[in-house]
Amino acid sequence: MKVAVYPGSFDPVTNGHIDIINKTSKLFDKMVVAVIHNVSKKALFTLAEREEMVKENTKHLDNVNVESFSGLLADYVRQKQACAIIRGLRTAADFEYEMYIAMANKTLYPSAETVFVLADSKYIYISSSIVKEVALLNGSVAELVPESVNKALALKKAAMKI
Ligand code: ADP
Repeated sequence: MKVAVYPGSFDPVTNGHIDIINKTSKLFDKMVVAVIHNVSKKALFTLAEREEMVKENTKHLDNVNVESFSGLLADYVRQKQACAIIRGLRTAADFEYEMYIAMANKTLYPSAETVFVLADSKYIYISSSIVKEVALLNGSVAELVPESVNKALALKKAAMKI
């Protein structure tokens, strides 16, 4: 069985991420979307909230599981017996950054290949950071994220009393 792991912060998941999951899940028997618990990165949404938002928006895909993990990605990929690590590429700057991580992961766990999937041209400018910035400054992100994420951003903003 060919298993792929798609790791990311997903803080929050955007239409760009969902597009990558939709496209890539067709290429593998199983895809695990792994929401990273990164202690050194301050997230807007909790790990549980991020995981739930990805679950809600991938429930139409039978071969996609959503989990969270902390620690070394290479160890997690080994544990899942995955043959591929999926990363989305928007720009050359993404590639520059991702190439080194891919090489490090290859050294740590040679049995998995990093597979880069190109962002759809519609989503090339979308990042979780831009979504958060626009939403917290009262801009509309309805076109950039799934509806449930748009609602969650509004609730988060209200809770922060901004
Ligand atoms: P990380 O913090 O690990 O970069 P992100 O949640 O920001 O996690 O992104 C996870 C993956 O999704 C990365 O490979 C990133 O390049 C990719 N990605 C982010 N935004 C988009 C987008 N709009 N289109 C395609 N891929 C994207």
